[in-house]
Amino acid sequence: MNSPEDAGVSDRAAANPLSPQPTGGPSPIAARSIDLKPLLSLVVPLYNEEAAIAQFFRHVIPELERIPNIRFEILCVNDGSRDHTLECLVAASQADERVRVIDLTRNFGKEAALTAAIFEARGDLVVPFDADLQDPPDMIGKLVEKWREGYDVVLARRADRGADSLLKKWTALCFYRIHNDMADVAIPENVGDFRLFTRSVCDALKTLPESCRFMKGLFAWVGYRTAVVDYARAPRSAGTSKFSGWKLWNLALEGITSFSTLPLRVWTYLGLSIAFFALGRAAWLVVRTLLYGVDVPGYASLATAVLLLGGIQLIGIGVLGEYVGRIYLESKQRPLYLVRQRYERTAPHG
Ligand code: UDP
Ligand code: MG
Repeated sequence: MNSPEDAGVSDRAAANPLSPQPTGGPSPIAARSIDLKPLLSLVVPLYNEEAAIAQFFRHVIPELERIPNIRFEILCVNDGSRDHTLECLVAASQADERVRVIDLTRNFGKEAALTAAIFEARGDLVVPFDADLQDPPDMIGKLVEKWREGYDVVLARRADRGADSLLKKWTALCFYRIHNDMADVAIPENVGDFRLFTRSVCDALKTLPESCRFMKGLFAWVGYRTAVVDYARAPRSAGTSKFSGWKLWNLALEGITSFSTLPLRVWTYLGLSIAFFALGRAAWLVVRTLLYGVDVPGYASLATAVLLLGGIQLIGIGVLGEYVGRIYLESKQRPLYLVRQRYERTAPHG
């Protein structure tokens, strides 16, 4: 294993990865590479992927080597795996200096791991990629080809979600519809994190200060000239999905609350409509009492109205809670992730 010195390691990330970064002018790496071929950073978040790693490198490295006029690095972010993912990654980085490893101090979640990768990537081009080979490695070359036509972002769109269950396809469809109806910035349907973007887009992403990070939304928010390439998504090469239904539901809530305040505003309109209805009904009750006298029955309708309004108010408070909770998290300004160690073979092989 590399010692911290020869690996160029610092024990932790800068206290806050979102603290101002040196801007203006290329990074030393970029400056050195001015006359060289562009560097592509394949950034890979990994959580308990020991079963998939060997296949991953076996398939991805030859595909990257096949792309003409490009150098590459594979930046692996170990997101607090509890299996032997780190050991496998460190071994890979020892064997090949194009593989770098960032080991986070615990499992921060895929969005945070991707953010770490965006901060650490050195490439002129950045491509987030999953370790399970669900996205075909030969697509990376196609994204690069499209980028050469002059785009800043090239999205890989899942034309065929054959590998996903019916329930996942349906819930994904509902999520995109609801999100895009509510949010100011639409996210493209059936596009995951797999895409290519340039250094300027990467730098733009680094300036976004929020700690509740819904990457698909942030990618869409920064804009830039965008092209789309379609592909078919394969089943996982090994291991199991790290996203349970509950995790996906929370990700969907994150997406909607990060990019829309409609769920907060809707209560004003609902409250107004109910208040108008109640006023009308009160007026009608006064008239009816004057005309026909006091009418004792009516407990059932009263109880129904109380329960209905109570329920609606609780939902309203719940929605407020979602946003207040996020304000609370943002206000703490905690770093998004902490790096335990970085592994990189600095000297050329042999
Ligand atoms: N992942 C991660 N941290 C997590 C969950 C997932 O880094 O907390 C990684 C995982 O190892 C994989 C990628 O994110 O490389 C996508 O995860 P997965 O394949 O489980 O998601 P799915 O394809 O089922 O949506
Ligand atoms: Mg997957």
